[in-house]
Amino acid sequence: MPISEPTSLLELTQEELTQLLASWGQPRYRADQVWAWLYGKLAADPAGMTDLPKALRERLTAQTRVDPLKLIIQQRSSDLQTAKWLFRLPDGLTIETVLMLYDERSTVCISTQAGCAMGCVFCATGQAGLARNLTPGEIVAQVLAAARWLADDERRKTMDENDATIMALGPSSSVLRLTNIVVMGMGEPLANYDRTWAALRRITDPGAFGLGARHITLSTVGLPQGIRKMADEPLQINLAVSLHAPNDDLRTQLVPINHRYPIAEVLAAVKDYIARTHRRVTFEYALMAGINDTPALARQLAGLLKGVLCHVNLIPLNPVAESPYQPSSPENATAFQKILEVNHIPATVRMRRGIDIDAGCGQLRRRAALGTGEGMKG
Ligand code: SF4
Repeated sequence: MPISEPTSLLELTQEELTQLLASWGQPRYRADQVWAWLYGKLAADPAGMTDLPKALRERLTAQTRVDPLKLIIQQRSSDLQTAKWLFRLPDGLTIETVLMLYDERSTVCISTQAGCAMGCVFCATGQAGLARNLTPGEIVAQVLAAARWLADDERRKTMDENDATIMALGPSSSVLRLTNIVVMGMGEPLANYDRTWAALRRITDPGAFGLGARHITLSTVGLPQGIRKMADEPLQINLAVSLHAPNDDLRTQLVPINHRYPIAEVLAAVKDYIARTHRRVTFEYALMAGINDTPALARQLAGLLKGVLCHVNLIPLNPVAESPYQPSSPENATAFQKILEVNHIPATVRMRRGIDIDAGCGQLRRRAALGTGEGMKG
């Protein structure tokens, strides 16, 4: 079947790119060169693919484009350790991507859907509903955008003198290359399974972007079929499950999909996953003051997870204006963690990142759409 000109070169597999260029009369090695430019050298523009003949560069420029994403808004947190981007897709929808800088790693949080159908009550994305699934190219493009931003020499040369984080680390620090990916942004990745995994295969392919699978974590609200399917994937992507409550009554209030897939079904799938992969699973628990952070609920959670090969990430919710869902106090978060640990459930209280730039999922998008307003992501 002939390959039509794509919206973005990132939508093509290597074989499809080869077919496209073959249909233009180009030998296979030209496709290999373009592939290396896209994923190895992070080229955003065919005009810069300097080892290609000029005529081919011109045709690529005229008939294709690299990036399906158009940057609409970029924000840096006041501590400069978090960057958040709002991108416009070719059909006008918008998505968010967040880059977080740590001492020795740089983690990008990517979206897999425009919107989300899961309806978590504390999440701005969930309140807006699902528009559509992202394509593999749109998912991969977020990773490449973050990698380009980190690698951008020009940005480094012209960056603010006050950019103390990066200046102090120096240009050779590993923070200047992308080291980790969390599939934890807008959308439920297991509800867009095939496209998400097509993107993850490209991201981990040593002949493409080449990031190790163990440096990638996929976070799901807990779709049992998808979790079991993940157990059969050869790529050792880490699994995180957003639990947020230890009983069905509370979880259904917070995470409405729990009505369809109650905790027992989610946990049964997680236990199958662990039995087949022997890999530790992370449970995400967004701590909300007075909602799910009491000592009694901590004890209930410890009982629920007893004997499960897991780690619990406790994340005080990003603060939301005019919402009943507010973050737990540091004291309550620590007390919750201690109860889990006393009961032999390993747990960590995680920092919230980028509070001043709406880094909670869906907040920047919502603010951009409304001109105000905020939401949350667990
Ligand atoms: S928290 Fe995640 S799964 Fe829930 S509505 Fe928001 S994006 Fe969807």
